Amino acid sequence: MKNIKKILAAVLAVAIVAVTFVACSGSKEETKSLTANEGVLVMATNATFPPYEYKDGDDFAGIDVEIAGKIAEKLGLKLEIQDVEFGSIIGGVQTGKFDMGMAGMTVTDERKQSVNFTNTYAKAKQVVIVKEGSAIKSLDDLKGDGSMKYGVQQDTTGDIYASDTAENGGYGEENVIRYKTGAEAIEALKADKVQAVIIDNEPAKSFVEANEGLTILDGAWVEEEYAIAISKDNEELLNKINTALEELTADGTIQQIIDKYIPAK
Ligand code: GLN
Repeated sequence: MKNIKKILAAVLAVAIVAVTFVACSGSKEETKSLTANEGVLVMATNATFPPYEYKDGDDFAGIDVEIAGKIAEKLGLKLEIQDVEFGSIIGGVQTGKFDMGMAGMTVTDERKQSVNFTNTYAKAKQVVIVKEGSAIKSLDDLKGDGSMKYGVQQDTTGDIYASDTAENGGYGEENVIRYKTGAEAIEALKADKVQAVIIDNEPAKSFVEANEGLTILDGAWVEEEYAIAISKDNEELLNKINTALEELTADGTIQQIIDKYIPAK
């Protein structure tokens, strides 16, 4: 009897050690790095999109860049910015090459199939830029009958919607010319290679200010909202960034950053 008790005690002791071991290795899993490289938050962007992101000499500047800096600070991470083509941001976030994509990125149902989006932090719209004195006077003059070509930045919502069929509100792929950057689309407009450029409203204002003889048609072509793209495999990062965004909204930081780059008229 005594022996059986001893054996039971020994078995119990082994079991406790085993359980403790499993529990410890379990908690080790939980403390795995929040981002791909411990301590670093890698943001993919396309720095040709003022006032959200652009190069100021060797530095990155803009609304997204500053908001990302504040988010990284709250998460105790060092922000690293990678400047890539707009069209490669979602794929890179999806595969975990980048921790987040922040590039004046519009939330769309199609993109939601590939990545998660944080809560939105800005409202935006697609607008149409034409040359001053253009025969195109209003959004109603835009047609997909081959009489006019549209310049867009490749893979943006302006591209996706304009290239769509007429029944979906587009002008047909054959009437759309894609450029790597909005700036190149603007150059094409100035050179009469396209008759209109479809692009987000704030970059549109920056481009029209920087180039003489261009104007923005009244009204919104499409209303949109911007958010940060995060891998579907990293919900913890999604939740932490959402909390950071909530705090930065509540204490007025985000509005201050927006006001700095988009002064109220
Ligand atoms: N908002 C547009 C989109 O998400 C354009 C963004 C951009 O060019 N950086 O497609």
